[in-house]
Amino acid sequence: MGELPGVDRYGLSALCCAADGSGLEPVTGESSVLACPRCGHRTDRPGDGVLGDGFDVVHRQWGLRGDPHAWSALRDLVGSTPTPATVEAVRTAFVDGLARVVGVDIDASDAPRVRREELDHGGMSGGQVDLDFWRVKGVPLLVDRAVARAPRRA
Ligand SMILES: [Zn+2]
Repeated sequence: MGELPGVDRYGLSALCCAADGSGLEPVTGESSVLACPRCGHRTDRPGDGVLGDGFDVVHRQWGLRGDPHAWSALRDLVGSTPTPATVEAVRTAFVDGLARVVGVDIDASDAPRVRREELDHGGMSGGQVDLDFWRVKGVPLLVDRAVARAPRRA
């Protein structure tokens, strides 16, 4: 598992707190831990052992307009599912959940984007879901976070 990036290539916060949107900042002396300056959430805080644990931080930038709505819908769908024991199974759970939300299996399709009426809340690219964003950034981050925050098994 890689370290969480504190800043992006522009020197801006790469990840934001999902609760309030604040840019996460590195914790002094703990290079792999980020914290929210507003609510105090730390990325090393254990979760509840459910896939919802993976939704505590978000990338600063989404791909397209529909992506944050897909993210919320995915959280609603899989958030209370117990986190599987292996990284592969965690990833599969997110990919399967996303397929139910956007209608596309990102592993079986190489389509770069899809449009979903129910995720259209207005705007230029309303309802457009950036499948490449989910392949490269969205799903990997969810998997990393859900696995990292899973309480240690006895
Ligand atoms: Zn926060």
